[in-house]
Amino acid sequence: MTKTIKILGLIGRAVDYSYSPLIHNTACEILGIPYYYTVFNIADPDMIPDALRGAKALGIAGFNVTIPYKKNVVPFLDELSEEASSIKAVNTIVNHNGKLSGHNTDIAGFASPLLGYKERITGTTVCIFGAGGAALAAIEAFKRFFSPKEILLFVRDPKKARDLFNETGYEAASLVTIVRSDELEKIRECSVIVNATPIGTKGRDKEGITSIIPLDRELISETQIVYDMVYNPLVTPLLQTAQQAGAKTISGIEMLIGQAERSFTLWTGKQMPVSAVRKALLHEIQQNTAE
Ligand code: NAP
Repeated sequence: MTKTIKILGLIGRAVDYSYSPLIHNTACEILGIPYYYTVFNIADPDMIPDALRGAKALGIAGFNVTIPYKKNVVPFLDELSEEASSIKAVNTIVNHNGKLSGHNTDIAGFASPLLGYKERITGTTVCIFGAGGAALAAIEAFKRFFSPKEILLFVRDPKKARDLFNETGYEAASLVTIVRSDELEKIRECSVIVNATPIGTKGRDKEGITSIIPLDRELISETQIVYDMVYNPLVTPLLQTAQQAGAKTISGIEMLIGQAERSFTLWTGKQMPVSAVRKALLHEIQQNTAE
């Protein structure tokens, strides 16, 4: 008799190229558990309530949620974890017998590769480029796990960033100083530099910019940790420069795996076989980068 398969999926827009199906289906195959992870492209935010009602009716086991719906899903869930409610954004939904609970594993997933450097970070100034959902997760992670003295948020539009904090009533905003993204000298004082913009992503240099920090300005030093949330390519132009400057570097693949590992456990109650998943993912990304 064929086993009933439980369905998991990614809700987003234009997410056909996501690595999440590879990550979760590899993990399920290795563990021999009856789940299948697919993608659900939703064209319009107006369709989110119907999609979630449909998920309850069909008994879909859970979702990841990505750009641009991490905030849109929130009002339609039955409960929110404490992390998700802190930044009012959900990247993981679990269906408990028709009750949908929202979680945010980006926060702990972001923190995970930095935990080994905790002593170097606590009480210092860190900086983040970008003011979207990924930047909010990074701010919350710094606040929860590392207690920095200050977080400099480099943005191209300070008013838009201020409005975002005002709208969300995001309580960590007092730790954050908003800085224009051309005031780059300030990064010299930061123990960690995070790129939470898409700059550096393969095939996305249409404005001619491949790094948030001009590569010729020698602003990065060996005492710093440079963390790029972009994971394709694995070594972005920013990380290449940071490596040449002798800084510690962290690729976005670590956050990708960190958040996936936590979502997987929320859905299945099992530990993800991380080394095998990492191997499969690296192989796939390297093949795509070579294309
Ligand atoms: P988002 O909500 O769209 O925010 C993107 C941010 O980047 C915005 O603040 C935007 O500024 C800024 N930005 C975009 N293009 C820029 C440019 N040319 N110059 C300066 N700033 C620019 O996206 P997100 O969800 O935060 O994700 C950001 C990046 O992180 C994406 O590449 C995503 O793939 C990556 N990410 C990776 C992981 C992982 O697991 N590794 C997880 C989450 C996200 P404006 O507001 O001015 O447009």
